[in-house]
Parts: sequence; C-alpha cells; structure tokens
Amino acid sequence: MNAGWISLSFDDALEQHWRTAIPLMNDRGLVGTFYVHLSAPGFLRHSDQWRNAARAGHELGNHTVFHPAVSSKAWVRPGNAIEHYTLDRMRMELEFANEWLSQIDGQSERTFAYPCSNSFIGRQGWIHRSLAALHLHRTRLTTWVDRLHLDIGSTRQSYANLVGELFVAGRGGGLARHDRIPPVSEWSRTNLLSVAVENGTLGELQHFVNTTVESGRWAILQFHGVGGGHRMDCSELVFAEFIRWLGQEHASRVITVLDGARRLWPQWSTKSIPAVEMKTIP
Ligand SMILES: [Zn+2]
Repeated sequence: MNAGWISLSFDDALEQHWRTAIPLMNDRGLVGTFYVHLSAPGFLRHSDQWRNAARAGHELGNHTVFHPAVSSKAWVRPGNAIEHYTLDRMRMELEFANEWLSQIDGQSERTFAYPCSNSFIGRQGWIHRSLAALHLHRTRLTTWVDRLHLDIGSTRQSYANLVGELFVAGRGGGLARHDRIPPVSEWSRTNLLSVAVENGTLGELQHFVNTTVESGRWAILQFHGVGGGHRMDCSELVFAEFIRWLGQEHASRVITVLDGARRLWPQWSTKSIPAVEMKTIP
C-alpha cells in the first residue's frame, strides 16, 4: 500500500495542547491525535476543552490513567512504578480510561500510546539487574539472558497483546529523526513507529514530511510540549510555521493515528469487544 500519510500525535495532555496547538491546527483544518492520561493536570479539570477538541475532529487517544513508568525516573511514585504492574492492573486502568474518554468524546474506538514508549510491565530479574549494576546492560549478554530465559525472578512481560485487544492500534516510539521509515506492510498494529520531534527546526520537519510523502510511507510525529509545558518541547513559532506550511502543502495527507490504523487494518474493530462491566461493590 502506498501511504504518504502524516499523523501528528501529542503526548501527556498538556494545557499547551488545547491552548496553543489545537487552535493553530483548527485554523488550518488539520487534525491530530492527543494521547491523554487521565491524571494529568492539563486533563483533569478541562473536560470541556478536550470535548471541544474531539468535536473539531481530533482523536483523544488513551495514554493510561497514571502514566506508569520505570521507578528510576524521578517523577515516578511506588503507585505508578511499572515494576508493580500486573496485566490485570493494566487492563483495569486501560478499560477505565477508555470508558472515561468515551464519556467525553462519545467514541467507542481509539488508539493507545505506551507511556515512555515502553510496552513492558513488571520487574526485571536479578541477572538483568546485576548486569545493569555492572554497566553491562547494553551488551549482547542481555540478549542471551532473554533468549535462554535465565533472568530468574523476572515478572517482566509485554502488554502489547492486551493493547491489541482493547484498541485499534498502539503507538510506540522506535524511530530516530534520520531513520528510514519502513513501508506500512512491515508495521505492527500493536507497536506503531513514531519519531519524537522536539527541538526540530522548521526545515527538519519539512524535510521529514517531504521524504515521507515521496516514499509513500506513514510518519507519526510525536510532540510533547508546544511552546512549553514539557522538557521535550517544540517552540510555538516553529510549530505555528510548520502547521501553516503543512496546511498549505499536505492538508489532505494529515490524518489521525486512528484513521491511519483503520486504513491499514480495516478488518479490525474494537466494536466486537463487549462493553466493560463496571463492578459495584457488594
Ligand atoms: Zn507520556
């Protein structure tokens, strides 16, 4: 399939998204995918702004409730340390977030973005932890430990299958700015590739888009801060110029991640999944 599609995705439900990015995109008739985690300050008390975004055609993607991540990150608490997550804990969180989001946008289908592009939950075993302590975790030894299942005590496992069950697609990371994007025929539905574009110049962004269009690939750009709000930031000036240019040159190629995933996997529909049963306490 010849794609030539561009998707703009925005992580972490920042105030700057609905204050800055969305109005600029609306002016040019461009839609994006906003991966929101429900506990984000920019989401919690701003349902009206996100409802308006959805009405304008933007996708509200699921990015969990508590944004779990590895405990070595300074902002992670024991309650959202990915090491403590089980598959069922993650399922509860994803189903709850889906229900909540559907109360806002009325949609029953959406895509998901793995927090920190990490599709694994649980804790590494003592061999991996020992290799890390010895600074050997970037060597081939780690591959052998995994291949031979030697990581005793590990509870680490992928939750990509769960994402495949609950969502039309899951977005990961995986691409550096100058990487070649593989053709869509090689893409995995549960780990869509994306490229983080913070600090990019207008020229770099335009080059990336033009290369994607010429080669018939699908580029999913990953933004965080837009004119602030996050340490990974795209200046408001660059973003505004980029959106103006994109609207002039490639408006018809800009689609939400959900739209791209539906084009690639039209047979997939989360509508076949029974609605979540919210349990009452007996
Ligand atoms: Zn995130």
